[in-house]
Amino acid sequence: MSDKIIDGKSVAAELRKKINILGMAHINETGSKPGLAVVLVGENPASQIYVKNKIAQTKEVGFESFEYRFSENVSEKELLDLIDKLNIDNSINGILVQLPLPDHIDSVKVLDMISPEKDVDGFHAINVGRLWSGLNSLVPCTPLGCSILIKKELGNISGANAVVIGRSDIVGKPMSSLLLKANATVTIVHSRTKNIESICANADILVAAVGVPNMVKGSWIKKGSTIIDVGINRIEESGKRRLVGDVDFQSAIQVAGKITPVPGGVGPMTIACLLLNTLNAAKAQHNLDSVELDSLFK
Ligand code: NDP
Repeated sequence: MSDKIIDGKSVAAELRKKINILGMAHINETGSKPGLAVVLVGENPASQIYVKNKIAQTKEVGFESFEYRFSENVSEKELLDLIDKLNIDNSINGILVQLPLPDHIDSVKVLDMISPEKDVDGFHAINVGRLWSGLNSLVPCTPLGCSILIKKELGNISGANAVVIGRSDIVGKPMSSLLLKANATVTIVHSRTKNIESICANADILVAAVGVPNMVKGSWIKKGSTIIDVGINRIEESGKRRLVGDVDFQSAIQVAGKITPVPGGVGPMTIACLLLNTLNAAKAQHNLDSVELDSLFK
């Protein structure tokens, strides 16, 4: 593997090992296993795969997994009632509702029903506000995973120019907030931004979270920069389906200093960070300090 490639798969495996060790210590200290409840509605094939992987990895690190599956026509009230019960169940430290939910259900209402202390996706308004205020909070898993990769590769990024392409609540905005917290100078670009290429040319760190296959070309990026590709796009090429990112990997790797591949870069970090959030939620619920990110890869 080229030494330019950031191997998210192996970093995620290393992170899961650490989570397992820290989780065992937590069980010894508190007498209870961290527990994650996953709620899945409907038969969306991608959601089924995500949930299957989340459950398997939860068990693999030695945590308790709870599954709640509903048909597509479940009522909003049934879901809200379930979350109400999970919020007060002490064996459950984290609650994850797999998105997207069917159109007849108000996702924001459901997500905001989750107790902020158990909001392991970091989507609750309280956690969003705490993150932007620089306070401790549960942080959305994908940007948290990107931050860990950046920290592991670059260490201190104070003063670095960081550009985030995309401003979604799930990736772009929390990513920008985390980079700002790490003292980078952050620019966010989106679909209405003019001259994106010239803004990217100045980025020491470029995070692409767009959903447009191969959008960022090697000619856009600064020599030696670090490229984090969040995109997961399914394309068809010569009759075969394959996954590509938002960055044109072949041209970008010629110019970049470091780059995450797709698949095998950011993707595997997302579930590992869900488990980290579950452990931190369990710790907070036992009045224990959360895991210091700096301590994870020493
Ligand atoms: P959204 O569709 O919610 O947001 C996309 C963002 O990209 C928007 O802010 C949009 O701008 C911007 N955008 C769209 N087209 C352009 C363009 N041509 N130029 C500049 N900006 C543009 O997507 P997500 O943030 O949820 O996901 C982004 C990508 O990351 C997807 O490929 C998704 O599959 C992947 N993903 C991967 C995860 C992982 O675990 N690796 C987890 C989550 C997502 P505007 O706001 O103006 O519309």
